[in-house]
Amino acid sequence: MSALDTNIEKLAGHLARFKASGIKNRIAGEDRDGSGGVFQTTSPVDKSVICYVAHGTAADIDTAAQAAHDAFPAWRDMPATERRRILLNVAEAIEARAEEVALCECWDTGQTWRFMSKAALRGAENFRFFADQVVQARDGQHLKSPTLMNITTRVPLGPVGVITPWNTPFMLSTWKIAPALAAGCTVVHKPAEDSPLTARLLVEIAEEAGLPKGVLNTVNGFGPDAGKALCEHPKIKAIAFVGESATGSKIVKQGADTHKRNHLELGGKNPVIVFDDADLDRALDAVIFMIYSINGERCTSSSRLLVQDTIKEEFEAKLIDRVNTIKVGHPLDPATEIGPLVTEEHYNKVTSYFDIAKTDGATVAAGGEKIGDEGYFIRPTLFTNANNDMRIAREEIFGPVLTSIPFSTEEEALSIANDTEYGLTGYVWTNDLTRALWMTERMEAGMIWVNSENVRHLPTPFGGAKASGIGRDGGDWSFEFYMEQKHIGFATGQHKIMQLGKS
Ligand code: NAD
Repeated sequence: MSALDTNIEKLAGHLARFKASGIKNRIAGEDRDGSGGVFQTTSPVDKSVICYVAHGTAADIDTAAQAAHDAFPAWRDMPATERRRILLNVAEAIEARAEEVALCECWDTGQTWRFMSKAALRGAENFRFFADQVVQARDGQHLKSPTLMNITTRVPLGPVGVITPWNTPFMLSTWKIAPALAAGCTVVHKPAEDSPLTARLLVEIAEEAGLPKGVLNTVNGFGPDAGKALCEHPKIKAIAFVGESATGSKIVKQGADTHKRNHLELGGKNPVIVFDDADLDRALDAVIFMIYSINGERCTSSSRLLVQDTIKEEFEAKLIDRVNTIKVGHPLDPATEIGPLVTEEHYNKVTSYFDIAKTDGATVAAGGEKIGDEGYFIRPTLFTNANNDMRIAREEIFGPVLTSIPFSTEEEALSIANDTEYGLTGYVWTNDLTRALWMTERMEAGMIWVNSENVRHLPTPFGGAKASGIGRDGGDWSFEFYMEQKHIGFATGQHKIMQLGKS
């Protein structure tokens, strides 16, 4: 039996329960139907219905927010070492079911086994990393003044909302939920309507590992309904959001009346700048990896290649050869490098850029085609002869589609790199240290890598500038979001207090 057949057989075993009883909402440790009935989730591999999903609405969000509110005091007051132990158990439990998570994620989203088998383990790593920070999360400072002993401490905000997208949904959800729980917050999670399977697995795994009922609640549903209600709910103290920039603006508006604290991780149109003095073989590997891995459905992808004109022809020729040999296929085949795009809507959006590129005057140097009509498969695509004013250089396509733009000088490269509404990541390839320092200091992005692809290190800050987001994840930055700083001043003596109204 081939590895693909083995994976398909295993997947069928895991899907049977979803097919039989669908996916319910999970509130206060119990399965609940959605007050809006049900909706379907389908696989982008063959467009088949995977199962029915509880359609949560504002009423279900209200029940979940109440459950998170009720569970909060006990979770907040639990000894830190005990909370740490539970979160470490969750990490272990994820690892034990990593294969199931990866198989379901591939089938639900079209992501490939090659990448998702590691993404599930990264989810476990997120829990382990933040569990290890639990004990010192509330530590503060001692800031003595002449009359007061001032101390600071941090306290968890309370119940928070987590709203996640469909790209690598399991890993991204743990990235938000693990630090929230570690901080002592309780959570209402509204996963993307297009990828509900692994959100269900996460809450199930967490509860089986000992997470108390109501500490993590999952409500499936749609953004303008359940998502909006979560932002507006008075018992929810903050929203951690990952998704499109336009949705991010709505999140802020919806939460304004209840003074929500928002953390927004949004879109990108990230530049990778390749200078002629770089190690061009490594640069080529990284350029390809950062746009064609994870189906190009990756916020940190380098979707704009800025290549120095002195090496443009040679670099693009090698790029075209490699792009044409990338393996598109069944996501559960370990050999596959690109699977289908997540939904019909997204497939239509991404493929619309094939014509937009031609209309704008760019060249479709590789790909630019759909593959069959059984699922949402496309060929990895490269546009050349482009400039930064074209739509293919300005809009987030969010697929395996790269736009190559030439430049001649450092100043020009910098100007093109920064000429975008986004500012999530940037990548610079050069062996000239002064040039690297000059570029990175001036590039408008939250995260920049020099001579490297994106390599996530959990203690470092993750987040974007401009329309790519507000706030940072990772290390202590996550706790800064999920916790309230508190200052307490103790008088150290009988200092003089101004006596108003006393004659
Ligand atoms: P999306 O904004 O359409 O949806 C994300 C989530 O928001 C979903 O759960 C959706 O139901 C919900 N939502 C939609 N409208 C809402 C509303 N009015 N109120 C509350 N919730 C609402 O994004 P998507 O298409 O699912 O995901 C792709 C996008 O996510 C891309 O733009 C990508 O760059 C971005 N992304 C960013 C990061 C990052 O770290 N910066 C990471 C991954 C993805």
